[in-house]
Amino acid sequence: MTKVLSVASECVPLVKTGGLADVVGALPQALAGEGIDMRVLMPGYRGVLKALKRPKEVFAEDDLFGGPARLLFGKAAGLELYAIDAPHLFDRDGSLYMDPGGRDWADNPMRFAALGWMAARIGAGAVKGWQPGILHLHDWQAGLAPVYLRDVMEVTGVGTLLTIHNIAFAGNAQPHLVDRLRLPSAGFSREGFEFWGQISTLKAGLVWADKINTVSPSYAGELMTPELGMGFDGLIRARQADVSGILNGIDTGVWDPMQADFAYKSPAGKKKNTTALRKELGLPPTRGPLCVLVSRLTHQKGIDLLVDALPALVDRGGQLAVLGSGDRTLEAALTSAAEDHPHVSVTIGYDEALSHRMIAGGDAVLVPSRFEPCGLTQLYGLRYGALPVVAYTGGLIDTVIPATAAGQAAGVATGFQFHPATSDAFARTLIRVCEAFQDKPGWTRMQRNAMRHPVGWDNSAKEYAALYAEIAAK
Ligand code: ADP
Repeated sequence: MTKVLSVASECVPLVKTGGLADVVGALPQALAGEGIDMRVLMPGYRGVLKALKRPKEVFAEDDLFGGPARLLFGKAAGLELYAIDAPHLFDRDGSLYMDPGGRDWADNPMRFAALGWMAARIGAGAVKGWQPGILHLHDWQAGLAPVYLRDVMEVTGVGTLLTIHNIAFAGNAQPHLVDRLRLPSAGFSREGFEFWGQISTLKAGLVWADKINTVSPSYAGELMTPELGMGFDGLIRARQADVSGILNGIDTGVWDPMQADFAYKSPAGKKKNTTALRKELGLPPTRGPLCVLVSRLTHQKGIDLLVDALPALVDRGGQLAVLGSGDRTLEAALTSAAEDHPHVSVTIGYDEALSHRMIAGGDAVLVPSRFEPCGLTQLYGLRYGALPVVAYTGGLIDTVIPATAAGQAAGVATGFQFHPATSDAFARTLIRVCEAFQDKPGWTRMQRNAMRHPVGWDNSAKEYAALYAEIAAK
């Protein structure tokens, strides 16, 4: 059995700020069916240590970037988990990456270097009885692991894979930290981990990992363009032969319309959920579609496009329900739109249960992102027969079959796409959605297609297993 250590700073259901956590939490089970023995390594945040059942100390460091640390192993939420118990780095109030005042923790470089270091230690055989053949590293937080593994610990027999969930986060650290982070000084160069005068832990991963992948085939291509490569496009183009895209799946047990408040298997059964959602959110009955959006409220997610396109939707009898939090200006713009329009409801906050009710009740799920590595809410929407209305970018291209003339004629459409990512294009598409919603047989056919679309992990688990095999063969 191939042993893989998955290394990440977030993992559902323990800690989550984004889709990365969903993927890390889902992979071990998805891959078990492919003969992969996957364990997860995470920082020992308070919540993680608390969740760890009967932890065993399997390794210790006297000085892990400023203090002693123990590596604990145990089960947590069904996962086989290694947690780094390093109170000087992880035992504190505040969120994963920020202090209670909302600023990045000043010692983030050391905190996540510790994650990479422990990953490399495990790769180097620190844990008796469990030697991984592959380190699967997620995003900038784990980016230093292959540098430590290859250049500091000089291990060659263990393969590495870096998965890019979001390239917008480069994991920058001040250049004077090279020594403190135990990095080889020769690595601080254009060919190494230097990125515009700083250390970039993401770039370290991109240069040092054996293979690189991202979470959809379309995003893999987009990363090679100056528009979406965020400064890494040249490097990724240079490594093209080692780059691939594997779509994220969703947990179809958790995201299952049969688990909705009013369980349903087919589009007709959805209606009770829609009625209940309207009631819960104080939205009046209307003839138009109830469009929902569950998202971080940021520029990336195109929330400003939604604010501008909103009149086109409500003028045609459509409704909007938003759940999210983030950028204060966008929160304020949405809240004020809700005050102006009786057909708009905005809930600022993070609420897993409400997100399920919204997708179960929504007629359509909106994802107007400017870029989207994979996106998960459109997959939830497909599964629940809430038709995705998405921007033509990244994973949204790969997961939604648009209701173009061709898509309609072939009877395969599952949603709507707009291009370019402007409020005008979005507004025009929302008008089309309102029109399409009036054609009940057509809409129901699309819902059926959507609900049948494979959104689980089956295909992608096979692709990861194949990629691990390729890495192991090298
Ligand atoms: P990203 O990782 O860029 O935020 P994804 O679509 O990949 O975007 O994943 C976002 C995840 O977070 C989804 O599971 C989504 O349902 C969830 N989510 C985002 N905002 C909220 C919220 N306010 N309440 C509940 N779930 C949310």
